[in-house]
Amino acid sequence: MATFKTIYKCRECGATSYQRVIDRAQNGALLPTGQYRCTGCRNVFATVRAWWQPRRTPELQSHSTFG
Ligand SMILES: [Zn+2]
Repeated sequence: MATFKTIYKCRECGATSYQRVIDRAQNGALLPTGQYRCTGCRNVFATVRAWWQPRRTPELQSHSTFG
C-alpha cells in the first residue's frame, strides 16, 4: 500500500506519513474511501488536514455565573 510522506506530523503520535484508506466496494473492487489512516497510530481521519491539525483546545468560557 502506498505511503505518503509529508512535512506534517500526526497530531496523535507524531508520525510523518499516512496511507489512503482502502475499502471493498459493492462490486468487490478495492477503492479508496477518501479517508486517511496514520501509519503510526492507525487512526483514521477524514482529511489530511484533520490528521495533522492540532485539536482545538476548549476555550475558557468568557462569561461566568459568578458575580
Ligand atoms: Zn498517528
